[in-house]
Amino acid sequence: MTTRILPTDGEHLASSLLAAATLLREGKLVAFPTETVYGLGANALDEAAVRRVYEVKGRPLDNPMIVHVHDQAQARELMQVVPAYFEELVNEYWPGPLTLIVTHNAAVPDVVTAGLATVAVRLPDHRITRELLRQAGVPVAAPSANVSGRPSPTDARTVYDDLQGRIEAVLDGGSCHVGIESTVLDLTSAVPTILRPGTVTREDLEDVLQTHVAEAGADAARPLSPGMKYRHYAPRADLLVLPLRDDVAMREALTEAIAVSAASGRRVGLLAPERFRGCGEHTFSSLRDGTSVDYARHLYAGLRALDDAGVEVMYCPAIESVGIGTAVMNRLGKAGRVVG
Ligand code: AMP
Ligand code: MG
Repeated sequence: MTTRILPTDGEHLASSLLAAATLLREGKLVAFPTETVYGLGANALDEAAVRRVYEVKGRPLDNPMIVHVHDQAQARELMQVVPAYFEELVNEYWPGPLTLIVTHNAAVPDVVTAGLATVAVRLPDHRITRELLRQAGVPVAAPSANVSGRPSPTDARTVYDDLQGRIEAVLDGGSCHVGIESTVLDLTSAVPTILRPGTVTREDLEDVLQTHVAEAGADAARPLSPGMKYRHYAPRADLLVLPLRDDVAMREALTEAIAVSAASGRRVGLLAPERFRGCGEHTFSSLRDGTSVDYARHLYAGLRALDDAGVEVMYCPAIESVGIGTAVMNRLGKAGRVVG
């Protein structure tokens, strides 16, 4: 199979949208941009199509998918009951990087939800993709458009590199501006519970809902969000995260760690804010000013770029685990390990 890259600039947009929407309706697989990362989409109501998504990604069948909708009404068509807080959250955050877990009705095939009574729904904040979803006219099940375990793709080229020959098309909508996956919030538990941290933070949600929002601990007896138990987001090289400290101490720690690795003959990469560039001999990938938004936006692309440069070990300074930093540290912890 040849994978088509569908451009979305100027004159190409209309024909690319029509081609992508038609493919989805026919049960084919189309990768598409969102504000978070690229998704690999299939008609959520077509069991065979959804099954193929698991196959091409090598995704475990017990890891359910997020269903993408083009408006709130389409989400409601999939739901058994509208849970408390749904309306307020949707009004505040949709379109946006907030996925809601709700109970589903018989319209949703088991393969989408891995047999759970609940389904994850989201309305992405991306002009082109909302139009794609509208034209497709069906809800679209889509996990991130990478081979399972690899960092999620944040541009069309990366999707193509991972999945070419295995999917029908990639809709090229440029780079994703959020860069990490959506916040997943469970609305079916007694207390709204964050199953996966993202750029919509616990503080944001508590402000809007004026109620306590829980965070599912990594040590919960059973992983509430099935996907969270898997190794994830990982580059090929070892990723070592240096714990938080002030800039002077961080420069010293990075310089020393890089020197030790280089002395043992390993090719070293550094994924860090600009101000840490040049802490010894390494390939550098920039996290710009090093705000939590910069970390999120450039993290996965940076991990992939350093892999492509052939480094064997990469270092990254930790950031404070508050607000969006919580989501960034969650991804860094799964992609690598915190050392020293
Ligand atoms: P991905 O689309 O690959 O970023 O993964 C979607 C995330 O949402 C995974 O962590 C899934 O386990 C989680 N998820 C999807 N559906 C559900 C659900 N019904 N209940 C809990 N978590 C879910
Ligand atoms: Mg994923």
